[in-house]
Amino acid sequence: MTTEKFRLALLFKPSYIVPRLRSIRSPREAARRAADLARYLALGAGNCLYAARGAFMRAWPGAAEDVRWAWRAGRSAALAPVRLAAGLRRELRLYRAVAGYKATKGRERVPNPPPPSAGKPPPAVHLSWNIHVACNYDCPYCWFHGRWGEFAGGSVSLSPAEWARHWDRFNDRHGAAEIHIAGGEPFIYPGFAEIAAGLSRRNVLYVITNLSWDPADVIGKLDPARVGFSASYHAAAAGPADAFAEKVLRLRRAGFHATASIVAYPPYLEGLPAAADAFLSRGIYAVVQPFRGEWRGGAYPGAYTRAERALVGWLARGGHLAAYGAAAAPAAGMRGETEDFGREYMLAPRRTRGLACDAGRAYGRLQFNGDMIRCSQGGYVGNFLKEDFSMAASAAPCPFRRCECVNEVVYVEGGPYGPAVSGPRP
Ligand code: SF4
Ligand code: SF4
Repeated sequence: MTTEKFRLALLFKPSYIVPRLRSIRSPREAARRAADLARYLALGAGNCLYAARGAFMRAWPGAAEDVRWAWRAGRSAALAPVRLAAGLRRELRLYRAVAGYKATKGRERVPNPPPPSAGKPPPAVHLSWNIHVACNYDCPYCWFHGRWGEFAGGSVSLSPAEWARHWDRFNDRHGAAEIHIAGGEPFIYPGFAEIAAGLSRRNVLYVITNLSWDPADVIGKLDPARVGFSASYHAAAAGPADAFAEKVLRLRRAGFHATASIVAYPPYLEGLPAAADAFLSRGIYAVVQPFRGEWRGGAYPGAYTRAERALVGWLARGGHLAAYGAAAAPAAGMRGETEDFGREYMLAPRRTRGLACDAGRAYGRLQFNGDMIRCSQGGYVGNFLKEDFSMAASAAPCPFRRCECVNEVVYVEGGPYGPAVSGPRP
């Protein structure tokens, strides 16, 4: 017998198959050969399916996304009755939470100083900078939860002087930017306070942080006229909302514009009214962000039950402000058109594929590995660390079925920063 490399066609070639059948001496030998053949066929079928899937995704990237979306939405809808049955009593409590909302009176309120962008010319570009993938918390709803290891080592680690060189080149080319720095948690990036101090000389910064650090760390080191803070309250890791809100007030007393936000994660919804009150009773209008992601098979925010949606919508739209009377007016005034547009979109997401979007030109997302992408869903713009890097020259159609980011959807056609409104920039 020859030792020709096996191919399926050989099974139909008598000179190959007959000697092999004759050489079988026992039922055990026959079974072993049949099993080998079955393994070979299964492997081949798997490879074919994998190749077909790859070809399908390359040929119809939009359709592949539609299939994924339909699968998630279908599974979410199928499991909705199970989620509801498991939490019927909770559902009733959530309905009552709106009617029973209690405003705490008599606490000291500290007005929010104006944002650092106020009174300055509009920036040429807005950027989000995910400076690294590392955090001292591990929130269950975090995009990186369970995936930290996947990204470990992928972050660019540069000194404050090296970052200053790259950002100077960017500013020389594009002018001043408004940069929203997130992570992970920016304050655990080595030398972050120094990086922020250098960057804020030519740009306006907003640092999105879990505020696990002491406000004394930045007072006198960062300029409140150039740097603001957006503090995300993560109930499980950060402890009581009262203590967290007091930290926000310390930043405000030092002259920093400081806001707060809370993610409306389904298991935490019963505690949401009390947390909202801890902030608003101190004059802090904490933005309630609808949860985006999966929980118990449900694809949120679409999977919120009626009671969950009623509570989240009520808080997100500021329904609770009325309970504080005239005292809430300054806090309510901090809500803007941009925030309203993003929030309403998240509560009732729509299809964005094909709409013109300025993400990539007027907005970009600088990733931890140095890549600039259009938005959190993708779209490569270039490598920020390369000498010839520049933002895209024009708006382009959105390639994604739905925009999934409350802060980025504002760049789509019809949004407050969309191409139809902002027009061409120099
Ligand atoms: S604090 Fe933010 S970055 Fe850190 S785990 Fe929580 S959501 Fe993720
Ligand atoms: S609409 Fe949203 S998802 Fe689409 S390109 Fe713009 S920012 Fe990205």
